[in-house]
Amino acid sequence: MRNLKELTRPNVWALKPYSSARDEYSGVEASVFLDANENPYHAPYNRYPDPLQKELKALIAPIKHVREGQIFLGNGSDEAIDLIFRVFCRPAVDNVVAIDPTYGMYQVCADVNDVEYRKVLLDENFQFSAEKLLAASDEKTKAIFLCSPNNPTGNNLCRKEIEKLLEGFDGLVIVDEAYADFSNARSFLLDLDKFPNLVVLQTFSKAWGCAAIRLGMAFASEEIIGLFNKVKYPYNVNQLTQQEAIALLKDSQKVQEWVEILLKERTRLADSFAALNCCLHIYPTDANFFLAKVTDASSIYAYLVGKGIIVRNRTNVTLCGNCLRVTIGTPEENDALLDALKEMK
Ligand code: PMP
Repeated sequence: MRNLKELTRPNVWALKPYSSARDEYSGVEASVFLDANENPYHAPYNRYPDPLQKELKALIAPIKHVREGQIFLGNGSDEAIDLIFRVFCRPAVDNVVAIDPTYGMYQVCADVNDVEYRKVLLDENFQFSAEKLLAASDEKTKAIFLCSPNNPTGNNLCRKEIEKLLEGFDGLVIVDEAYADFSNARSFLLDLDKFPNLVVLQTFSKAWGCAAIRLGMAFASEEIIGLFNKVKYPYNVNQLTQQEAIALLKDSQKVQEWVEILLKERTRLADSFAALNCCLHIYPTDANFFLAKVTDASSIYAYLVGKGIIVRNRTNVTLCGNCLRVTIGTPEENDALLDALKEMK
């Protein structure tokens, strides 16, 4: 790996971060807070939240088998994606490489930050070749984006190829595991200490049932997380979000139960969907959705909208012509979809 200073934007490396009132004292049991120009009334909303979300990280660390210092929490994992560009990529100079098709926000963040986004096509099994990604990179490539299980294709990427990339690329390798809770594959979280250039993204928005509270996680070396913390907004995760996540983490058995139900429903829905006249193929999935090739994605999508049922039309996405992406819902929701498609003329 290039050394971290070389990978980081010089202005960020030199940055003296904003120091909030709550950053400046620690270790003492204070009870009178006259430091942050807050209103003393209207508890608990009157106080700024913990800028580094320590209580939350202390609960996440043992579940994820990482150290607290290896965790960054943000306003969705989308915040972490954007921070990767803002911390490492010089606008109009640096570039990133990504598999194609994949999650759309990597390109949006690249475009917003004026960073060249180089796409490398997946093969017909939606797998990538480390060699091809390396061939697309140069000395200005700061990061390579992978997503496993991938969105919108649903499949896990080949572990061996990811490892090849981690060993062969001297910049950052981002492995977005937003859907990993639905997969049996070993998480790359367990390899953080082995690969100093690895950044793993996960989220509370999928299996954890918390898309509304906006809480995403990035895991990496303490040095990389330190850079994210330097650049993030001081109070990027609000108090309500921190409280809700703490409550859920103390009752995380629920998450396991949801995942089990959704995996059973995934099998049932995919099997029944495959038997429909309009379905040509269902791609293998390791996520809480599947990609299906259908006879005419746009007309089926419009028909379903007319019935009040919304799936994702991915027909304009690379390699996904005439494909719909279907999220696994409750048994009732899945039945509504199947019934509507059975009735379709
Ligand atoms: N990564 C992937 C692969 C996703 O599909 C999504 C959401 N669709 C995200 C990240 C963003 O998740 P969050 O809600 O944590 O911002």
